[in-house]
Amino acid sequence: MSNRPELPPEIARRRTFAIISHPDAGKTTLTEKFLLYGGAIQMAGQVRAKGEARRTRSDFMKMEQDRGISVSASAMSFDFDGHRFNLVDTPGHSDFSEDTYRTLTAVDAAIMVIDGAKGVESQTRKLFEVCRLRDLPILTFCNKMDRESRDTFEIIDEIQENLAIDVAPASWPIGVGREFIGCYDMLNDRLELMDRADRNRVAESVKIDGLDDPKLAGHVPEHLLEKLREEVEMARELLPGFNRQSFLEGHLTPIWFGSAINSFGVRELMKGISEYGPAPQPQNSASREIAPEEKAVTGFVFKVQANMDPKHRDRVAFVRMASGHFQRGMKLTHVRTKKPMAVSNPVLFLAADRELAEEAWAGDIIGIPNHGQLRIGDALTEGEVLRFTGIPSFAPELLQSVRATDPMKAKHLEKALMQFAEEGAAKVFKPAIGSGFIVGVVGALQFEVLASRIELEYGIPVRFEGSQFTSARWVQGPKDKVDTFANANKGHMAHDHDGDLVYLTRLQWDIDRIERDHPDLQLTATKEMM
Ligand code: GDP
Repeated sequence: MSNRPELPPEIARRRTFAIISHPDAGKTTLTEKFLLYGGAIQMAGQVRAKGEARRTRSDFMKMEQDRGISVSASAMSFDFDGHRFNLVDTPGHSDFSEDTYRTLTAVDAAIMVIDGAKGVESQTRKLFEVCRLRDLPILTFCNKMDRESRDTFEIIDEIQENLAIDVAPASWPIGVGREFIGCYDMLNDRLELMDRADRNRVAESVKIDGLDDPKLAGHVPEHLLEKLREEVEMARELLPGFNRQSFLEGHLTPIWFGSAINSFGVRELMKGISEYGPAPQPQNSASREIAPEEKAVTGFVFKVQANMDPKHRDRVAFVRMASGHFQRGMKLTHVRTKKPMAVSNPVLFLAADRELAEEAWAGDIIGIPNHGQLRIGDALTEGEVLRFTGIPSFAPELLQSVRATDPMKAKHLEKALMQFAEEGAAKVFKPAIGSGFIVGVVGALQFEVLASRIELEYGIPVRFEGSQFTSARWVQGPKDKVDTFANANKGHMAHDHDGDLVYLTRLQWDIDRIERDHPDLQLTATKEMM
């Protein structure tokens, strides 16, 4: 990855990123502060408040309130420092990793938030691995420095060892816990002091002429100053310095220390994003690489969210613009169906509100309301037949059969299930023999989420039950071979919501045997969604 100096200024100033973290590390708080500095909200605390208002209004995801987990992803845009930030929210709970994987295909960089007392936690590591698969540049924010946290070197070492990435301190914390007073900005030789009295105030910044500057003594107590000088000297000797190229290639992460709740360190992190990038990157397609500066508009759907407003049974397809300058009302080609589509009411998500998007540039995320035509992985272009690659669909790890408690509602249930399948919330398989459906998810909690949504959004009480199957594999190969195989194994065959053939089993051994006996067939655990 590299920044491309030849980008048109409107594209070059875009920063599209996600925040990855383990639950409770402070992602929501950090997001709030981003929006605060981005001028998108007046007061911190509104992200949650607005989120809740929206949920009660639409009854959307009661589960989310009950469990205090974030299930739905959204995108938010705001301006900072002459840059347009597009922040794509990743669902935080480990049960929703597939959604998260797909979200990460729509961004150019990620911010990894870790808790200064806990270091690298399980979910951080999983998400980090996904970023690594895509060589995404990562900025690290070590949060909660106002609490007792680990030794700074220890934190950095843990990240380096655990995640096998170089860590360059962009700032260095002064004091810990109650004694934490701020950071020394290692990139700009400044002293950043935390304002403990007002959590939403932008903290003081003092220009310092190196660590021997007598000005330091006026702000930092003697014993902390001594330690700071020692540590910074050691850090400069032992740790890699910031190198933009390594960062853009995903080999090195700059780390800022701060306290999101005290608004401390957030502005420096944001400046880091605007200054070091990356700008929107080229996207891969089956036939060629799509460069953001190309004149023709292209984009791909990475998420579909249904029933954001139950009054209008609408869905919103979240589209990452891959190239060009989109203007409202443009007629684009929906590549999968080859049909023209007038995009007349696209929305931009400004903070928690939707707003009509008059225009969008490569890198932006827009929402397109539709009635189900747009699916995850779909491409929109000005006519070119493109297939964007890299959006995976995973084989579910848990299967259950589902039925409506009221048999009269079976038909409605099918409709609801299909919609969730298109949204990517679950896999739905229709067995070749018998009636009913088998639903597959990656985490057990998703069954509860689905049951709750089917009841809330469609008024159909349902029951999930154990299925005789535990694994699903997509079957591909020459048509005659696939047909013969399917006919001989009818009891195991099903179709997913796209009509693609799936083999269901409860034995890994079965899958191994088929792969051995039928070398022409491929049994795959993932299917590209496009
Ligand atoms: P998320 O689950 O990652 O979105 O985390 P939240 O932003 O909801 O934060 C989890 C908890 O940590 C909340 O109670 C926050 O108030 C608290 N928190 C967030 N940032 C800080 C911080 O800088 N210092 C302290 N002491 N607490 C924080």
